[in-house]
Amino acid sequence: MTQHVIQPGATLGVLGGGQLGRMFVHAAQALGYRTAVLDPDPRSPAGQVSHVHISTPYLDATGLQQLAQVAAAVTTEFENVPATALAALAVHRPVAPGAAAVSVCQDRAKEKAHFVACGVPCAPHAVITSTDQLASLDPTLLPGILKTAQLGYDGKGQVRVNTPEQLAAAWAALKGVPCVLEKMLPLQFEVSVIVARNAAGEVVNFPLQQNLHRDGILAVTTVPAPQLTPEIEAQACTAARTIAARLNYVGVLCVEFFILQDGSLVANEMAPRPHNSGHYTIDACDLSQFDLQVRAMTGLPLVTPRLHSPTVMLNLLGDLWFDANGKLREPNWPGVLQLPGAHLHLYGKTEARKGRKMGHLTITGATADDARANALLAAALLGLPLW
Ligand code: ADP
Ligand code: MG
Repeated sequence: MTQHVIQPGATLGVLGGGQLGRMFVHAAQALGYRTAVLDPDPRSPAGQVSHVHISTPYLDATGLQQLAQVAAAVTTEFENVPATALAALAVHRPVAPGAAAVSVCQDRAKEKAHFVACGVPCAPHAVITSTDQLASLDPTLLPGILKTAQLGYDGKGQVRVNTPEQLAAAWAALKGVPCVLEKMLPLQFEVSVIVARNAAGEVVNFPLQQNLHRDGILAVTTVPAPQLTPEIEAQACTAARTIAARLNYVGVLCVEFFILQDGSLVANEMAPRPHNSGHYTIDACDLSQFDLQVRAMTGLPLVTPRLHSPTVMLNLLGDLWFDANGKLREPNWPGVLQLPGAHLHLYGKTEARKGRKMGHLTITGATADDARANALLAAALLGLPLW
């Protein structure tokens, strides 16, 4: 299927007004598009910078109708935008990614089934929807991680369990919602792959990024991935492209992978949108993940993005806004911005909360060692743990 090009000057819509929407809006506006954001929060990060901001709930019929009227095409930035909202919009406008692909990504059970159907290994797991299943569970899945099938993010909706008793208690604590129990795997390191695919089936990918998580939240992304071998890189790229193609995916998709101690590759999860681990692309690549999100949805050419500078990205969580006594403070931005290659992105969120993503800092360098050295200096200035 080929898509007719939506030319600059048209309005592009986005469901969700968080930081990913904000960076999408910036990329779309740089190409001369107008933008419309639908997000219930009147102060949403993307709404603040968009030409049009529709502040209604995602499933509000009037809000969706307004978005369909004003936007020539619609995308999403928020993992849990109801797939029904995308389906409702798709009656009137091209929607990328589509509701069917998004609904697979929204459910860990469907997501894993899709990986398996694509021939991509994933963690040994069991879907749990009843107490009977708990009783007859394969004991080799323990120790494991119980994850809610839907609505989990940043380690939320996850409990580590070692015994059948802990598993039963954890499932009850998660209110008995459908869950996936995953075997705890011996990780060596983690990487992710971001692909962009258009309606004609053309696909490009960014270089792989290596990701370090703390408390289930992304903390540090390094590119080129220091521990990656060319074989694993090729396997992960092929897997991510197959996963996208078999969803008939249009837009930007991120697939997270584990590399196990024995060197094997396991798909963890995917996100139907640009991803936190791809924020480095804004400053370290000649095209960003948001540029490609715009190109994929408008039918403009997809070009393979090139990393022009080795880089380290640090996530800036709300914790940095509090001193040791819990008093509010402003992080040392002048200190950080004195470092060569420092690119500070703050999302315009008015209230800092612990664990809340407030911004990110990308450090580019002439060499990987330069980028790392300055990123370590930045981390020390901000009071972040070193790695
Ligand atoms: P989220 O949706 O919160 O990102 P993930 O499933 O990606 O949830 O889990 C968050 C992090 O927890 C992973 O990046 C990884 O560090 C760790 N983790 C998740 N599943 C496993 C597993 N099966 N074995 C070992 N570590 C895991
Ligand atoms: Mg994850």
